Amino acid sequence: MPIDPTLPYDDNNIFAKILRGEIPCNKVYEDDAVLAFHDIAPQAPAHILVIPKGRYVSWDDFSARANDTEIAGFIRIVGKIAREQGYVQPGYRLLANVGADGGQEVPHLHVHLFAGKPLGRMIAE
Ligand code: AMP
Repeated sequence: MPIDPTLPYDDNNIFAKILRGEIPCNKVYEDDAVLAFHDIAPQAPAHILVIPKGRYVSWDDFSARANDTEIAGFIRIVGKIAREQGYVQPGYRLLANVGADGGQEVPHLHVHLFAGKPLGRMIAE
């Protein structure tokens, strides 16, 4: 079910539960501000989700409310994870779905990181 990205943050969303350690994840990276883990239903040979630990519903919410340090730190970590995983060559794709038309289903900001094969068209037919 797509979510409404304008609603307040829901502490019961699945990524909030992962952050609290209530449900497991297959962790790729963690620091004070960011957690990255493998997507449970990968859509490419490599499919990692990178999330800030702050309570942000979506990219819209994060870009509006997070401070510059949080935003810069998050973007740098996404790049660092891709480098450390060896994805820069031959390349990778980042995606952040927002709201219904974006196909967002989990109301906690996450950036999808896809890699591992030529990824084809950006938007499905
Ligand atoms: P989106 O449609 O952009 O909101 O993407 C949500 C993503 O979260 C999907 O790719 C799901 O496969 C993934 N997902 C849902 N639950 C989990 C979970 N428990 N662990 C890892 N990934 C999950």
